[in-house]
Amino acid sequence: MADIIYTLEGGVYMNITNKCPCRCTFCIRSLGDAVGDAHNLWFHGNEPTFDEIKAAIDAYDFSNTDCVVFCGYGEPTERLDVLLKTAEYLREVKPGIKLRVNTNGLSDLINGRSTAKEIGEAFDVVSVSLNDPDSDSYDAVTRNIYPKKAFPALLKFTEECAKYCKKVRMSVVDVIGEENIEKSRKLAESLGAEFVCRSYDKGR
Ligand code: SF4
Repeated sequence: MADIIYTLEGGVYMNITNKCPCRCTFCIRSLGDAVGDAHNLWFHGNEPTFDEIKAAIDAYDFSNTDCVVFCGYGEPTERLDVLLKTAEYLREVKPGIKLRVNTNGLSDLINGRSTAKEIGEAFDVVSVSLNDPDSDSYDAVTRNIYPKKAFPALLKFTEECAKYCKKVRMSVVDVIGEENIEKSRKLAESLGAEFVCRSYDKGR
């Protein structure tokens, strides 16, 4: 079984799926089988059941953990039921720990319905990868399976999440250039999200 919980630069992460509707040009999954202290983040078709995730949580020592981030080798909202059940379980057994989900923001397309309320209410922080400030550039860099529809869907998802979650972020990586960074900042703030520009050297 692949690692379900792993650490990276002091943070604790949950890897619950390998499914994703994107093939981002920068995706870390193409660089190796694992990151941080994980040995292998690929499930090879045997995605963990909720009971297996629960067992991994029960066996893990969270003593110095203040935040758990759902971010692994796939898009967490591809397994929305498991994601929400796992967040609920962590709230129950580790009530002092903050919960964040890192997402591509395409949950509504993936699940075929509006999902922002459930996700926004389940997490302390929702972090959405914006990547680029326009639809064509976004489609080119993410190579998603919903061309033309993905970008407007992620904007709508983010704006709706901001109604239900206190902290919603949108991120880009600094390789897109100053002008696009500024466009992205304005876009994120217009949706009620905090804007984050990450350094490419430090990863996503
Ligand atoms: S959305 Fe995330 S997991 Fe999916 S391809 Fe892009 S970087 Fe990789």
